[in-house]
Amino acid sequence: MAIRIYNTLTRRKEEFVPVVPGKVGIYSCGPTVYDYFHIGNARAFVVPDVIRRYLQYRGYNVTLVQNITDIEDKIIKRAAERGVAPQNIVDEFTTAYIEDREALGVQAPDIQPRATEHVGDMIDMIKILVEKGLAYVGDGDVYYDVSRFEPYGKLSNQNIDDLVAGARVDVGEAKQDPLDFALWKAAKPGEPSWDSPWGPGRPGWHIECSAMSTKYLGKTFDIHTGGVDLVFPHHENEIAQSHGANGVAPVRYWVHNGYINVDGQKMAKSLGNFKTVRDILQQYPGKVVRYFLISNHYRKPINFSDDELRMCERALSRLEDAIVNAAFTASIDLDNREEMVRLAAAKSGKAWADDSAEARLDGVVKEVRRRFEESMDDDFNTAGAIGSLHDLATALNTYVNREMPSPPNEEARVAISGAVLALMDLGDVLGIIDPSSMKPAAGRSGQFAGSVTGNAKEDEGELANAEKIVEGLVELLLDVRARAREAKEYGVSDMIRDRLAEMDIIVEDTRDGARWKFASK
Ligand SMILES: [Zn+2]
Repeated sequence: MAIRIYNTLTRRKEEFVPVVPGKVGIYSCGPTVYDYFHIGNARAFVVPDVIRRYLQYRGYNVTLVQNITDIEDKIIKRAAERGVAPQNIVDEFTTAYIEDREALGVQAPDIQPRATEHVGDMIDMIKILVEKGLAYVGDGDVYYDVSRFEPYGKLSNQNIDDLVAGARVDVGEAKQDPLDFALWKAAKPGEPSWDSPWGPGRPGWHIECSAMSTKYLGKTFDIHTGGVDLVFPHHENEIAQSHGANGVAPVRYWVHNGYINVDGQKMAKSLGNFKTVRDILQQYPGKVVRYFLISNHYRKPINFSDDELRMCERALSRLEDAIVNAAFTASIDLDNREEMVRLAAAKSGKAWADDSAEARLDGVVKEVRRRFEESMDDDFNTAGAIGSLHDLATALNTYVNREMPSPPNEEARVAISGAVLALMDLGDVLGIIDPSSMKPAAGRSGQFAGSVTGNAKEDEGELANAEKIVEGLVELLLDVRARAREAKEYGVSDMIRDRLAEMDIIVEDTRDGARWKFASK
């Protein structure tokens, strides 16, 4: 089956055919580094990461370019507010951006160009536009003459007349037409500036993406991603600039992700419901936030709420628990991938009876892989893909809890390895399953209610059991201590009390005997 992608430009799903067979170039609009990024931005960073991972899974050699906008009005304004140099703002929020991006499991792009390092490329492109008569100079600014680019408005599906009605000329702008946009802005006192054929100044925001995508991916590349809020004017302008300068349409497939609402409302600073990823990460692990962001189709709007996040947390735990419990039961080391691959591969030599539980589980693995790919081929339908992973988790749980011979024989270990590997590999394509962040089942017994992250029923049963054992052991030690006190062996009784205290178990002697509790932290 071929991959089909919804193209904003044509407003339909199209079969994916890359410019160069086997290779894919993706350009993704990156952050303007003047603040922490919000949950809506996060979706625009996670979506291309999933697309990239899936195309790699399908065998493509992918190059992902994402810019960092490190010169822009908002940065200059924030620097002025704080009384620091713009570079301080850029450094602080570039570091924060990378930290938060990593927390969401978003892999670094192959190339992350910064606008300020490509001003020369932008000037070169603007020169071509001026030479071709598509741009004009006024008071040291350079503007794109939108009336000279016939397809303007096609991406956002608007005609020029409608656009003109909504456009305006700001005070101090030397535009000939309200729709025209700045390619180059003349320097203002105290602002960073570069020399250019039109005098000192700085580039407009739109031109950086045209210059950098052309430089790193060529005049025509495969996929351009961004939030739906960037369709107009940013991406409309990118097309005008790149097509104008290079003479060809720059992008084969325009991919735009939908909005995120907060508690059913549009997110806005004025409504006080503005959610930064940094704040959300105080409450939820990055992988849960990522799970939430891909739990719906990327083009649909999604609603952020605590209920929704908690539901995602439980759902993700369910997948992780299926893996961890199965591996623990069958003594499979999740860190030893080679061993799992060897075990899973052994099934080709096994003569499983067709009606055996192992054959059934193996059949589910094959079916889930097929459905996972079918969903992802269909315009990267992550919701469908996640659904198929849950079906595999159900089959795995059923096998481990009810059908597997106890203790597990070799056939069981082979079947479990195949299912666990499939869950981990497909989960990794979505970036939601990371073995290094899953605790082995045995290691969980030290945690107790309140500090537990997983909420699944299996988890609770396991913990309740462990809690009972610990209670029994503490009671036993207190009985021993009481005997020691009766025998006036106070050294022994104090040692027991002190050693328990080291484990945050506090012993209090009362008239009715010793009582104990966990130290509150
Ligand atoms: Zn851009």
